[in-house]
Amino acid sequence: MDKAIRLSRLIILLMALLFPAGLRAHEARPHSMLVLDQSDRRGPFYYQVFSGLRAMVSEHSAAETTIYTESLDLNRFGGERYEEDFRQFLEAKYRDRPIGVVVAIGGATLELVLRWHSKLWPDTPVVFALVEERDFARLRPPPYVTGGIISVKFSDAVKAARAVVPNLATAVVVGADWERQVLFRNWKDEIATRIEGLNVVEIVGRPMAELLDRVATLPGDSAIIYLGVYTDGNGNYFPPSDALAVVAERANRPIVVASETYLGPGGIGGFVIAPTLIGAEAAKSALRILDGENPESIPLSVVDVVKPIFNWQQMERWSVNESNLPSGSEVRFREPSFLEKYRWRAVALGAALLIQAGLIAFLLHERHMRRRAEVESRQRLSELAHINRHATAGELSSSIAHELNQPLGSILTNAESAELILHSKTPDLDEVREIISDIKRDDLRASEVIRRMRSLLKRAPFETTEIDLNQTMREAFDVLSLQASAHNVAFYLQTSAEAPRVKGDPVQLQQVILNLVVNSMDAMAKMPYGRTVIARTEVNGDASAVVSISDSGPGIPQDKLNEIFDPFFTTKEQGMGIGLSIARTIILAHNGQIWAENQSAGGAVFHLSLPLVAQSTLRQLHRV
Ligand code: ADP
Repeated sequence: MDKAIRLSRLIILLMALLFPAGLRAHEARPHSMLVLDQSDRRGPFYYQVFSGLRAMVSEHSAAETTIYTESLDLNRFGGERYEEDFRQFLEAKYRDRPIGVVVAIGGATLELVLRWHSKLWPDTPVVFALVEERDFARLRPPPYVTGGIISVKFSDAVKAARAVVPNLATAVVVGADWERQVLFRNWKDEIATRIEGLNVVEIVGRPMAELLDRVATLPGDSAIIYLGVYTDGNGNYFPPSDALAVVAERANRPIVVASETYLGPGGIGGFVIAPTLIGAEAAKSALRILDGENPESIPLSVVDVVKPIFNWQQMERWSVNESNLPSGSEVRFREPSFLEKYRWRAVALGAALLIQAGLIAFLLHERHMRRRAEVESRQRLSELAHINRHATAGELSSSIAHELNQPLGSILTNAESAELILHSKTPDLDEVREIISDIKRDDLRASEVIRRMRSLLKRAPFETTEIDLNQTMREAFDVLSLQASAHNVAFYLQTSAEAPRVKGDPVQLQQVILNLVVNSMDAMAKMPYGRTVIARTEVNGDASAVVSISDSGPGIPQDKLNEIFDPFFTTKEQGMGIGLSIARTIILAHNGQIWAENQSAGGAVFHLSLPLVAQSTLRQLHRV
């Protein structure tokens, strides 16, 4: 038993010798951190430091970590009395709250924490952040302290100013009193050592009104380097980013800045401190300590939290070329290009245009195909109509022969008479002259018959011209006149007073009239007397010309009024049944209409209407 007690005592002694006090302390180290900073934490900078810290804690802490925060407000308060009061406040406030690690943000904070350490947290390790390397060197922290040192140099600010203003001659340093500057106070010494070829003007610790007047009238080869203004000189304090917005509005030169949070309120950029990275770096070290590591084992390092970042909108304002910026620079607040901004709208518009183009192409193709089909169908129509005309001519052939025979016969008779007169002893030359003129007249009559038949039978493509429908009717009735008298049919043609001008193919339209009149004559063939065909041309308002051809025949059975226009519908023994179907096709090709009716007094009437190109109102009665 004694042996066992002696052994355990030995182990305890060995433990005590082997492990230093710090580590022994950690065995009971509470999982809590007290974060102290030097601001009043109203501005975005410290807010972002804390965001970075909190994000890192919640991301990496296995155990629940309590975070306490205190802002020392050292821009506005200071002095021994303040420090002592604050210390007592902290002592009282955290009396019953064990702290695992103290995090000091900023050089001024670290300075105070070191002074307070022995009284407030003698066994608690300290992690610092946002401490400039010269402050760190001056403070020479003891071994229970670790953290990330930052390096922000005035020479970097000058480098950024030269990128922004290539012919830079003057750097105008704007900020609070050097004493109040918690981050950049070491730049004072750097400025004192003079920079080659650069004139540095300091506007520090001046009232806001004076500052604004001065920054509005700076020379063209200057740039402002903004450190941070915390007061307007009348006892009003504000976050330095708010002050920057006011200065930027009045300044006539670009403003180089050294904090990421100054980019938004009007800074053009520069080598800027990223506050979230500072918070995150501090949290990393603090968590390692809470997890049991010794502060001595976490090496002090210079953390990479300064990056060249520039504001695109300010660059535009001051016509800064992007190629002049230091290498590796990031450009923020870039206005998106039209395509980036309206990407989806542009895509939708493009798609709509594409669909529309496709639709147009499709419609053009359709139109082209329809045109071709129209041309083809007209060609077929011309051919069929030609055949139909031959058939009509066949029907008319006997009367045509008769019509030719008559002048030819009288020519012969007249020639023989002339011959006899000339053979007499005293030929009556006046008589001969008269005979010759008769011969000439008969010859012309025969030629006219042949001309009409030729024009009717010529194979011509479908061609429309502006025509006088009255004229077309007259010519058709001329062709038919002999046939009419041969069949004992009385023709009446009533034409409108003014010519009904339509667009049409005269040969085709003549054929329609021919077909209708021949049909009428056929229908009346069995009637003993009173065979009459009456044709009218009328103008129907401004729109159309209407031709009506009526007969005194038996009419058309009521149920066949539409059927008669069908191809091959015939009631005649020798009929082909294509006359009316061709007539309808021709009229439709002229954008017109054709229809049949029975008259109340008996007989059929065919109407066809055609669009007018000119109007006529009166009607004339012609007896043919
Ligand atoms: P076809 O004259 O060869 O018969 P159509 O197409 O010209 O061919 O006429 C078709 C039919 O319409 C005729 O057979 C006839 O029965 C009827 N028809 C046409 N015109 C008249 C009319 N004026 N009176 C009575 N019937 C008619």
